[in-house]
Amino acid sequence: MAWYSGAERRPLGKQTEPRMTEHNILCFHTMVGSLMGTDNYFDDDGYYGTESHFGVGGSSDGARDGHVIQWQDTDYGADANLDGKHEVISIETSDGADSDQPWSPKQIDSLVELGIWVCLEYGIPPVLIPDTKPGRRGIGYHRQGCDHSSSYRPRGWPYDAWRVPGGRRWSRSLGKTCPGDVRIRQLVDIVIPRIKAGFGQEDDMPDRQEFEFWVKNGVLKALMDDKVRAWVERAVWIDRKVFRDGKHIPAIQELADAKTEALATRGMVAGLEEAHRQDEAGEARDLDAVAAAAERGTRKALTEGTVTVDIDITGPEGQTA
Ligand SMILES: [Zn+2]
Repeated sequence: MAWYSGAERRPLGKQTEPRMTEHNILCFHTMVGSLMGTDNYFDDDGYYGTESHFGVGGSSDGARDGHVIQWQDTDYGADANLDGKHEVISIETSDGADSDQPWSPKQIDSLVELGIWVCLEYGIPPVLIPDTKPGRRGIGYHRQGCDHSSSYRPRGWPYDAWRVPGGRRWSRSLGKTCPGDVRIRQLVDIVIPRIKAGFGQEDDMPDRQEFEFWVKNGVLKALMDDKVRAWVERAVWIDRKVFRDGKHIPAIQELADAKTEALATRGMVAGLEEAHRQDEAGEARDLDAVAAAAERGTRKALTEGTVTVDIDITGPEGQTA
């Protein structure tokens, strides 16, 4: 059983479709209609009729703009891709019966999140497939598996690709342009890159040592500043003894260590926040920016003087320092 948690689950009745034997391709379609109109249409014949795995609402669906419905368990096939049924997961996208209507921002967000889930769930690479030949793995659009009329001159991959000799047939209709020029452009230029960005985060993560090096760089830079140093000195002036782990040490040491630990943590958090912001924005991670964020975080921790330190002045035998 594989159901996407971000979707409204609307199975079409008793399961009658065969299981998928592979999960190789995620294919995008356009509905030539509304989300709920398509839902009614699919629901009429249950799994005996045509269906897709998913449907995503658009700007003409009112409150359902960006809403995701899952009609079919992705363990089982859906008919939308004809001969690709055993290996293709299909997404219908609402267009309000106008296939020139672009996907709305909310619709794109939902398509990206759903795409990330499918690709992670089945290890599908977030790249456009060149054609529908057996063995391809990746993301495609319906037209790639459709035959054009003999008079039509395709403009080619990536925006106007049709079935190639030896490619799997995804439709019996001739000249099916699904999901339309506008949406194919959005798929290639926006949706696939965003799925890739969300999908590839862990691969692009610099190794921990390198990352910590840059954070420490930022912390050290902050400490070299005179104003910041003055703050550290003021914070550790108390000249008395305290206990740490049963040992007698100068309070100044305890305070300095606690302060250093606290500011290093602030710096680390600031660095992580910067790295996260860059991921969200889809930018390549800039380690100089991470160091700068760590420096700002450290400076802020020190100059605001908001760190609270608990010091144990009672020794193991109850003696005071
Ligand atoms: Zn289609």
